[in-house]
Amino acid sequence: MADYDLAIIGGGLNGAAIARDAAGRGLRVVLIEQDDLGSGQSACLGLMQGRVTAIEKGALRRIRRSLVERDRWLHNAPHLVRPLPITMPAHEGRRPLWPLRAMLHVYDRLAPGRVLPRSETLDITHHEAGVPLKRPFGLAFAWPECLADVSRLAVLAAVDAAERGATILTGARCVRADRGKIWQLALVDRGRRTSMSARALVNATGAWIPSVTDTVLRLKPPPVRLTIASQIVVRRRFDYDGIYAFQNGDGEFIYAAPWHADFTIIGTAARPFVGDPAIAAASAVDIDQLCRTINRYFRERVEPSDVVYAQSAAHAFSARGGDPHLGTVLRDASRGAAPLVTVFGGDVTLSRRRAEIAVDRLTPFYPMSPPWTARTPLPGGDVSWQAIGDEAERVRERWPFLNAKEAARFVSAYGTRTGRVLGDARTRSDLGPQFGPDLTGAEVRYLMAHEWSRFPDDILWRRSKLGLSMPKAARDALAQFMMSPPLSAEGDPQPLAPELSPSRPDAKTGA
Ligand SMILES: Cc1cc2nc3c(=O)[nH]c(=O)nc-3n(C[C@H](O)[C@H](O)[C@H](O)COP(=O)(O)OP(=O)(O)OC[C@H]3O[C@@H](n4cnc5c(N)ncnc54)[C@H](O)[C@@H]3O)c2cc1C
Repeated sequence: MADYDLAIIGGGLNGAAIARDAAGRGLRVVLIEQDDLGSGQSACLGLMQGRVTAIEKGALRRIRRSLVERDRWLHNAPHLVRPLPITMPAHEGRRPLWPLRAMLHVYDRLAPGRVLPRSETLDITHHEAGVPLKRPFGLAFAWPECLADVSRLAVLAAVDAAERGATILTGARCVRADRGKIWQLALVDRGRRTSMSARALVNATGAWIPSVTDTVLRLKPPPVRLTIASQIVVRRRFDYDGIYAFQNGDGEFIYAAPWHADFTIIGTAARPFVGDPAIAAASAVDIDQLCRTINRYFRERVEPSDVVYAQSAAHAFSARGGDPHLGTVLRDASRGAAPLVTVFGGDVTLSRRRAEIAVDRLTPFYPMSPPWTARTPLPGGDVSWQAIGDEAERVRERWPFLNAKEAARFVSAYGTRTGRVLGDARTRSDLGPQFGPDLTGAEVRYLMAHEWSRFPDDILWRRSKLGLSMPKAARDALAQFMMSPPLSAEGDPQPLAPELSPSRPDAKTGA
């Protein structure tokens, strides 16, 4: 008998969502990630949208499906997904005004129910949206979409998977997968060689799909095209609570969005990529292109020297074309051989549905319960999205030493599970040592015990974006603390209910 029903290689959003779906359907699941959860392209900003301009390509059914999913996210992860208007200054650029207005009219009609408001035309000479913009823009179109914390979506999908019995391995690289009636996997898990077996395998390694298929599975890779996409972060450029969309020369949009209270994130610049995804990095040309586009619109110039952080990652698309938002789910179940499902590409909005489709492809091979994720909140998401502000108020009442910004940050990361981080603390000092203005020992211990954080970057860039404002000395102190966090009486970095414990296999270690 195999150790697991399903092994998934790749702990980005796609892999973690599949692990969650499959564990909830009763399969014995292991998720294998070579680095940290959400550390590949899932570390980037994610707009959840149907994408208005896809109307030009006639993708009406796909848009409708995306808008249904976007609204599901709002209900299932209200702490991680924030509705914001996308605001596009109107000008006679690549797309004249009337077709854009007509597209928005169709877009409004495609949106299910009345969860978010309809699009509108703003006179930005008299609207706060116009304040940071150059003068010539008199009108703007605004329509609602959502902004998502993608790496936390991946982490919380893994937390939910673990709570439903999945084994989550981080820092574990799959180096070989031999296919027979079952899969035999060899891993290098934190420096030790280990092995395990599974009845089916999912390859969800994003931009690593070609190399993993070729060198680890030793199969013919699917036809894949890689691009590198980059985003830059600068100090906050505007107070307007919305996302600007600016038409780039190539017809794509460049977005400027509010980012973690004090910052603005600008993206995305994309270009073809060849090479190892692990070393994908924004070039000076990418950064310059983003600055030049934004400077056509904003009054206050953005120079490359203003960039406090740049994030880039490689993204895989099917070389056969098709709608890039859907992504690709391929099943290979040759007679007598253990099944393989390969999942890559696609957007954040459809990731839940993509995971459901991937697991559905395995139904001929196992008995499993029906799909369940459409109406089940992610951990901490059991609160209405309209009441998320009230949740922050409740947090302040319960822990009055927090200011409004701190309470909002806790709620936007942990939702209704904020109490698990703050516990019975009555004063700030009850939360342990302080690392920079926002992070405390209690939160670090929680993230190490419950969310597989091992290194400072896991916390500073994937579980939060506190790396944007943490001074070097605090970072060094955090690294020191994480090497030997003070233990609780139980000998664990944080008291942990057994059913919540992120599990690791022990009997299968080959070392
Ligand atoms: C800059 C940028 C901006 C984007 N913006 C948006 C947006 O606005 N809206 C949107 O919908 N989508 C956006 N996307 C796409 C979106 O981020 C991805 O679709 C989503 O995160 C899913 O990624 P993934 O899980 O397929 O891949 P990844 O997150 O890259 O995960 C793959 C994982 O596989 C692991 N891995 C590889 N090889 C091995 C191995 N041998 N063993 C173990 N693990 C391995 C890697 O370490 C990696 O963590 C953007 C992407 C980028 C790069």
